[in-house]
Amino acid sequence: MRFDIMTLFPDLVDTVLSESIIGRAREAGIIDVRVHNIRDYTQNKHRRVDDTPYGGGRGMLMAAPPIYNCYASILSERPDEIITEAPEKPSGAYVVYMSPRGTKFDQSVAERLAKHDRLFILCGHYEGVDQRVIDEIVDEEISIGDFVLTGGEIPACIVTDAVARLIDGVLPLPECHENESFSDGLLEYPQYTRPPVFRGREVPEVLISGHHANIDKWRHEQSLEITKERRPDLLDED
Ligand code: SAM
Repeated sequence: MRFDIMTLFPDLVDTVLSESIIGRAREAGIIDVRVHNIRDYTQNKHRRVDDTPYGGGRGMLMAAPPIYNCYASILSERPDEIITEAPEKPSGAYVVYMSPRGTKFDQSVAERLAKHDRLFILCGHYEGVDQRVIDEIVDEEISIGDFVLTGGEIPACIVTDAVARLIDGVLPLPECHENESFSDGLLEYPQYTRPPVFRGREVPEVLISGHHANIDKWRHEQSLEITKERRPDLLDED
C-alpha cells in the first residue's frame, strides 16, 4: 500500500514514521510512505502558502493552489515539478483530510482505509485549509478525536500507523492484530511476561497451567469484564 502525506512540516511526519515497525516495513518495501512538502508547490514568489480568511476572523488559512498542485504533481508521478492540472484519480486511491470536523477515527475506519491501494493524507495547519480544495480533491475528512491540535501531522501519523499495521507483512504474524482490543469488539485481556512474581504480584495460575482451552476461556472472560467496566458502549454495539 502506498501513502502520500501532504504537509507543511514533512520532517515531523517522516521522523515519526521512520522508526520501529513502520520504519522497518518501509525499508523492506512492504509499505511505501512518501511525505511531500506543500510549500514546494507554491507559485508565490515569497513561497507563501497561507493567507487571511475572506470575511475576516482570526488566524491564517492554507491556500488552495499549493495543496492542489502538490496533489496534481504526486498523481502525475512528477513530484519534482509543479503540475497545475491533476490527472484522473485511479480507482484504488482515496484522499483524506485530517480535520476535527471529520468522521471519528477508530479501528473500523482503519480497516476500511486499509482496503485501498493508495491513501493520500492532507495535513492542515494554522486555522485549516480553503474549503475549495477540500471540495476539489478530498473524499473524506477524518478526525482523531473531539479536541483541536495545532496541525494534521500527528493525526496523519496516527492514521498511517493504524492502517499500515493492518497490511500483510507489516506485523510478523496476522494473529498479532487478530486478538487485539477492538478487533473482535472487545478490549484486550491482561497480559503478563517474566518474571513470574513481581513485587509480590503473581501471574494468574491459569496462564502457567499449559491448558490452552482454559487459557482461552479465561482471556475471553477477562476481555468481557474489562469491556463491561471501561467501555460498556462497545457491548451495546451490534
Ligand atoms: N479551525 C479548525 C476548526 O475549528 O475545526 C481547526 C484548525 S486546527 C488548529 C489546524 C489543523 O490541525 C486542521 O486543519 C487539521 O488538519 C488538524 N487537526 C486539528 N485537530 C484535529 C483532530 N482532532 N483530528 C484531525 N486533525 C486535526
